[in-house]
Amino acid sequence: MAMVLVVEDNPVNMRLAVLLLRKAGHSPLCAVDAESALTMARSAAPDLILMDCQLPGMDGRAATALLKQDPATAGIPVVALSAAPLALVRESSRAGTGDAFLAKPLHFPDLCATLDRLLGRSAGSAIAAVPAPIQGAEADRNAETPPVDLTVLESLVGPDPETMLEFFAGFVHSALRTRLELHRACDEGQAHVASRLAHSLRSSALMVGAGRLAALCAEIEIAGSVGTVDAPGALLPAFERELESVVSFLQNRSVSAGLS
Ligand code: MN
Repeated sequence: MAMVLVVEDNPVNMRLAVLLLRKAGHSPLCAVDAESALTMARSAAPDLILMDCQLPGMDGRAATALLKQDPATAGIPVVALSAAPLALVRESSRAGTGDAFLAKPLHFPDLCATLDRLLGRSAGSAIAAVPAPIQGAEADRNAETPPVDLTVLESLVGPDPETMLEFFAGFVHSALRTRLELHRACDEGQAHVASRLAHSLRSSALMVGAGRLAALCAEIEIAGSVGTVDAPGALLPAFERELESVVSFLQNRSVSAGLS
């Protein structure tokens, strides 16, 4: 068992990381920003750090550079996490200082293999615990594609309805909050804030299998990064419609499962 510090600002992504680390037999510690991660790395001396690249304030790469400069923490392996397109991250991590990279949403076999490699263990033992392939979601497929592909989350957390509903509830909660913040950012002309919010929501939308919503978030993220608020604002009506259909799909599932 290793102590693994997870640095992640998105609560849904954090929940998945904690769940998968526990499943692999490790003991997770959580930090929601770079500053508290640096403090915890020094005080708790974790065996390994999973570091989100996009964090509010100091970003993950700057935090990793500081960890590697400090003799007290320089020996701790750091795995960079990002939901950004892989090519982009690989390119930028060349200038970074992390020891490995994992794409979000985290996949259990990849996480285990990377942890085993960096912790100096032989791979294979934990991989036996990979969730079985999904059967139950087939019935939800119909002629028109539903807003959520249930097989995506099931493949990440395993065929456990209660855990899935917990993730869906966490996703709905954070998505509705992000929607309000996104509107405010567009109203106030904060294009880069809109871009960052869309990025964060995109990674959890990918995790719960809301592919169309994730694609709309990617468009808002790119439009906002250019720096004018008109572009992300113009995408809001389509985003609203898709978010509403995702939320009502997930809420109907919670009710029908009797666990809402
Ligand atoms: Mn983040």
